[in-house]
Amino acid sequence: MVQGLAVSYVRVTDAERISPRMLRIHFSGEALARVMEDRPDQQMKLCFPRPGQRVPRLPEPDADDTYGMRWYEAFLAIPEAERPLMRSFTVRSYDPGSGRMAVDFVLHGDGGPATRWASGAAPGDVLGMVGPSSAYARPLPRAGHLLLAGDESALPAIGTILESLPAGARATVCAEVADAAEEQRFATAAEVTVHWVHRDRGGSLPDAVRSAVLPEGDAAAWLAGEAGTVRALRRHLVEERGLPRTAVEFSGYWRRALTQDDAPTEEDLAWARERAGEA
Ligand SMILES: Cc1cc2nc3c(=O)[nH]c(=O)nc-3n(C[C@H](O)[C@H](O)[C@H](O)COP(=O)(O)OP(=O)(O)OC[C@H]3O[C@@H](n4cnc5c(N)ncnc54)[C@H](O)[C@@H]3O)c2cc1C
Repeated sequence: MVQGLAVSYVRVTDAERISPRMLRIHFSGEALARVMEDRPDQQMKLCFPRPGQRVPRLPEPDADDTYGMRWYEAFLAIPEAERPLMRSFTVRSYDPGSGRMAVDFVLHGDGGPATRWASGAAPGDVLGMVGPSSAYARPLPRAGHLLLAGDESALPAIGTILESLPAGARATVCAEVADAAEEQRFATAAEVTVHWVHRDRGGSLPDAVRSAVLPEGDAAAWLAGEAGTVRALRRHLVEERGLPRTAVEFSGYWRRALTQDDAPTEEDLAWARERAGEA
């Protein structure tokens, strides 16, 4: 494990469609054995090449090969025209035996450098990777019953969380996907009920969460996906269902009609303060 944030290159080994709109891409990389940890929901940033570049330009390595809090400064020091486009992703799995990491990409069809790159990815293609690092990890809220709710972009994290739950743990998953073909199966030792919400049938994640049965006084929640929906879910759980704020971990993974390069809105900033416990 490395302290701070490692900035490294990863190389595509192969790709498989796990559903019509979800592409699992496997990567190898010299730093993987060092940076991968044995914990669920490992988040990192992938750096995509600019048009015309074959390999994204990364900051020169630090003396100790990690940047700690300074990585963003080093990233911004790259001239804008050459600076890679950066998007957040989840490590779906890492296999120490083969040294390969899997990342699941939602092919959301709205353009964007990550989706575009993933759609054409081929063995040998190279991306930059920043992290993951436990220094930025947020622990799962603890309770007798865990609610996991999100859309396709949250499925990789939900998969790793379910895989990490021990026998005897109880969880409910509410997952919104385009249609039945996007459902996934998750391996878990826990007792888990999964409610799939299909957009093509008019299903809505907030409705599914409203209907979820949670034990009074012993439930926690983990929410991720489209930012506006995540906020609505969090409001419902805290204000209407009485879950303590600290029992609801939430994260807006993407914003409707905005890219990850667009500046945060006032609402984004307010929720970031709330998430940090400052509001
Ligand atoms: C911590 C974290 C972990 C994440 N893990 C994953 C992961 O493992 N796999 C994954 O696929 N995504 C994951 N995401 C979400 C991903 O970072 C965003 O979806 C990102 O916007 C994709 O970049 P892009 O270049 O494709 O689109 P952008 O250039 O960012 O956006 C272009 C357009 O696409 C729309 N858009 C973006 N994402 C979606 C979506 N999922 N569905 C519908 N429309 C969308 C935007 O509203 C915008 O209009 C994660 C996000 C975070 C913060």
